[in-house]
Amino acid sequence: MRRIQVAVVGAGTAGAAAGTLLARAGHEVTVFERVEEPGPIGAGITIQPTGQAALARLGLLAEVAARGAELDRLVCRRRDGRAIVDLRYAEIDPGLRGLGTHRGNLFLTLHAALRTSGAVVRCGVDIAGSEVDAHGRWLASAGGERLGPFDLVVAADGSVCELHGAARWVRSSPYPWGALWLVADDPGFAADRCIYQIVDGAHTMLGFLPTGLSPGRDVPVVSLFWSIRADRVDAWRAAGLPAWRDRVLALEPRAEPILDGVRDLDGILFAKYRDVAMYPWHADRIVFLGDAAHAMSPQLGQGANLALIDAVALADAIDGCESVGDALAAYTRARRRHLAYYQFATRALTPYFQSDSRLRAWVRDRFFPASRWLGPLRCRMTRTMIGVDRGIVRRPMSLEGLPRVPWPALADVRRGAA
Ligand SMILES: Cc1cc2nc3c(=O)[nH]c(=O)nc-3n(C[C@H](O)[C@H](O)[C@H](O)COP(=O)(O)OP(=O)(O)OC[C@H]3O[C@@H](n4cnc5c(N)ncnc54)[C@H](O)[C@@H]3O)c2cc1C
Repeated sequence: MRRIQVAVVGAGTAGAAAGTLLARAGHEVTVFERVEEPGPIGAGITIQPTGQAALARLGLLAEVAARGAELDRLVCRRRDGRAIVDLRYAEIDPGLRGLGTHRGNLFLTLHAALRTSGAVVRCGVDIAGSEVDAHGRWLASAGGERLGPFDLVVAADGSVCELHGAARWVRSSPYPWGALWLVADDPGFAADRCIYQIVDGAHTMLGFLPTGLSPGRDVPVVSLFWSIRADRVDAWRAAGLPAWRDRVLALEPRAEPILDGVRDLDGILFAKYRDVAMYPWHADRIVFLGDAAHAMSPQLGQGANLALIDAVALADAIDGCESVGDALAAYTRARRRHLAYYQFATRALTPYFQSDSRLRAWVRDRFFPASRWLGPLRCRMTRTMIGVDRGIVRRPMSLEGLPRVPWPALADVRRGAA
């Protein structure tokens, strides 16, 4: 496509990746980010092989992987030690791995790429709405600025998206449950090479994610997640640190050194999630990427992956079409099956891990362990984890092109950059 003027709203995972790819392709890109000085904050996330492929396409996988933790499996067990789920990446392909990383590392790497891509990045601009006329699509900032016109607006401002008014059909609602999280120096979880969860009923879930090296400190860290219903956070704070500490240690005594470093509950943050359903993911001169388009609970650990894949799919659609309208229609077509499956699977599975339902916990504890001896079921669950499924009966995405280990060492990446 000829050179077009693109506005990207939000410089998170989806926005930074899309802005970088579109600017590198020669388009005139301006990225508007609400935060004055975005920084490397947040908890650990798992980047699945599909998200790794998108990072490789951006030329950034080596850098992110060199600071990340290599993950062989996902293990979820009950309080009594009985495993409910044990999925190994290598079962699908011996070279595939999960990549645990600090969100800050992903942020720093994506932002460095964005800033050298040719895109203009304007921080501290809070976009409040948009309108379209014969000249293109315009943005309005909360400060009263009228910005544009643009040939294309990429809405990548996360799950509470200010531009949803421009979508043809959208439904956005908060999940009743969320997660408390903290990142701490790792007392040894990385050695397990495992995303590790312990459940008690469906109301309690404790998770540990080896998160690689902390941004700027080069110290291995681990993220701890504690599932909680949003309306119980105040009661949790009121009960105090010792009560929570006891509950965590009853599930996993190895968390003691992590909890020893927690002085008060203010250091533990609460992450809320939303469920965003939208179709199509574009309207006149606007396209929605990442959480703005399809926010979901992080139960399957796919949100950042999907955001990265969206960015690559959008860049391909724009590259392959003559007009913005054709490109956006092609984008929605390209993403339909994959996104529909992961939204379906996330909505179906989350209540088995985050709800007050005793029945769901019972069903989970009785039937999910079948995946340990039922090969086809286990393979299906593992494929879903790595991010390639596109439906219950539809063929999955090809494994060809997914990055394999070994990933480069940090020292080699630094030597290459020097
Ligand atoms: C506890 C938790 C654990 C998770 N674990 C995983 C995991 O293991 N693996 C995984 O793949 N995903 C995980 N996710 C999901 C993942 O974090 C998100 O899906 C991903 O960050 C979405 O990226 P995004 O770019 O769409 O949105 P965001 O990362 O939310 O970025 C949106 C950006 O837009 C900016 N913005 C917002 N409003 C405006 C505005 N009005 N104007 C201008 N800028 C604006 C924001 O400041 C931000 O920079 C997890 C999420 C949570 C909460």
